[in-house]
Amino acid sequence: MKADQFALRDPLRGQALARALQRLAPERPVRIVHVCGTHEITISEHGLRHVLPEGVSVLEGPGCPVCVTSTVDLDRAVRLAEQGVAVCTFGDMMRVPGSRKTLDEARALGAPVHTVLSAADAVGLARKNPAQDVVFFAVGFETTAPGTAAVLLDDPPGNFSVLCSHKLIPPAVQKLVNMPGTGLDGLLAPGHVSTVIGAGAYAGLAGEHCIPVVVGGFEPLDVLYALLLLLRQVADGRAQVENAYPRAVSWEGNRQAQNLLATAFRVSDAKWRGIGEIPCSGLAVRAELSRFDAALKYDVPAVEGQEVVPGCRCADVLVARAVPSDCPLFGGECTPLTPVGPCMVGAEGACAVWHRHGERPAL
Ligand code: SF4
Repeated sequence: MKADQFALRDPLRGQALARALQRLAPERPVRIVHVCGTHEITISEHGLRHVLPEGVSVLEGPGCPVCVTSTVDLDRAVRLAEQGVAVCTFGDMMRVPGSRKTLDEARALGAPVHTVLSAADAVGLARKNPAQDVVFFAVGFETTAPGTAAVLLDDPPGNFSVLCSHKLIPPAVQKLVNMPGTGLDGLLAPGHVSTVIGAGAYAGLAGEHCIPVVVGGFEPLDVLYALLLLLRQVADGRAQVENAYPRAVSWEGNRQAQNLLATAFRVSDAKWRGIGEIPCSGLAVRAELSRFDAALKYDVPAVEGQEVVPGCRCADVLVARAVPSDCPLFGGECTPLTPVGPCMVGAEGACAVWHRHGERPAL
């Protein structure tokens, strides 16, 4: 086991991959997009952009779940907490700016807001406090949604419900493909999400849109190898789905998790912060479980909020039209201690990652 862990960071293998990448220098600019904050962390922390051949850019798209959570949902969560409902959510969500305030600011003013590590923790809080209404503000992609589905299907207490803001990655990638100015020459597909949905979920992207797709893991060598496969496809004029993370991802994905999602949720249209509404890109609680659907249980209407903060370029960063350092506020007015937009808040937000690792490559 130890030998395998060392192999994943073997400098000789890294150098060999870097040389192989250099031999694939393209004749035209090539833009690879990934949609995973963990990929951005690996790429930035290990300076992987610096070993790419000239002309190859790797940019983060809508891969940070808290960054793309619409203020429609965030403002609703804040209002619920202000009404005395205990709102539980992940730590990354606490400081994301809403239209009026963050959940953290609501908590500072006395609202019952709790940081939890899972939906199950929120159910535990509800069981311990039967007189207190508890809402789990559910954000995240296919990776975290099965955990929410599991608690919904496990007979939670009547004082528990879910404000569901889960989102699906493939429709967001599809949106990028059709968006002007985002030119996508290849997708480094997210390892975590793909463990659930399977590499086969990208077959349409490769087959119908001729976009090369490679599923990648999160060690530096995983990412370099996935990028090598992508550049080989670009060089050969191929568009296929390849799996460079077979130790975790299969073609069909995790059937058990998929069944949980299908039983607890239905697919719905969803609003992505900075991007807008994307058809069939969200999950909503199924009608059979509507007693646990906070959106129906409480009279807190969905109101259009301030999605884009003036001066902030998150809307461009989230669709790979800009990198964090393109924003004039980056590192000055906007830092992890004084975040202006959502991309500077979460651990997986592109701006926060670049600020943390000083990643300012020439893209
Ligand atoms: S640096 Fe701050 S203001 Fe600029 S795009 Fe990123 S989060 Fe928004």
